[in-house]
Amino acid sequence: MGTDDETFLLCHRCGRELFPGRGDFYVVRIEAIADPSPPELEGWVDPEELAEKIDELIDQMRGMTERELMDQVYRRLTLHLCGDCYRVWIEDPAR
Ligand SMILES: [Zn+2]
Repeated sequence: MGTDDETFLLCHRCGRELFPGRGDFYVVRIEAIADPSPPELEGWVDPEELAEKIDELIDQMRGMTERELMDQVYRRLTLHLCGDCYRVWIEDPAR
């Protein structure tokens, strides 16, 4: 277990090599979840129109892989940032 490849880390922002065990970098975990509230159906009172909309959605989804569908609702990223980049990033993470 554990080859050199697995422990070779680069900062996601500046590309600097990071060395586990030296405490000079940060692991940033980002979890992004699509709006979990139920779809707003107000305004779709006409059942025929609603059925059409749903058909449209199903057609769109047919062209997508399961992976693409998953990515639309949920994504989890792990970033490695060197100390310098982390201090800049954490002040404005949504940039
Ligand atoms: Zn960096």
